[in-house]
Amino acid sequence: MSDLPIDSKQQWYSGGLRFTCTSCGNCCTGPPGAVWVTIEETKAMASKLGVQADVFLRTHVRRIGSRLSLTEQLTEYGHDCVFLDRQSIPGKAICGVYEARPVQCRTWPFWPENLLDRQASDQARHDTPCPGMGHGRHHSAEQILVQLTRSIQSEDSA
Ligand code: SF4
Repeated sequence: MSDLPIDSKQQWYSGGLRFTCTSCGNCCTGPPGAVWVTIEETKAMASKLGVQADVFLRTHVRRIGSRLSLTEQLTEYGHDCVFLDRQSIPGKAICGVYEARPVQCRTWPFWPENLLDRQASDQARHDTPCPGMGHGRHHSAEQILVQLTRSIQSEDSA
């Protein structure tokens, strides 16, 4: 895997990490933030919802600097992603465009800032807070690096 950005021998997570999403929604709310999207991703989400791409852009996307982000809505929980669905499954918060969700969401929690070292990972688990981190499915170091690479490439292209 020579095209990956980190030397595998130096990984603190060489034994892999556990993560399974519990659909708590915590990573999709909280203080004001951004869900970075590319134009291609907005087209995929528009298609999933059955709306025109330009309508989707006008309705659900905002520009922050030179990048595009999904909009948020203020709820009792915080600034929810506009597609966070707290109604369909009692006690759960699910993604309303799950199959077409952006790479930023697909690659959580294997983001570069969370994988710097064990302390950064623990801090992310605490700050979000994400009950899925450290539990559930085992992801090998190689699988994590694939997600990390996708996350970095997505940040570069958004
Ligand atoms: S915070 Fe973690 S467990 Fe909760 S929805 Fe997000 S990824 Fe899933």
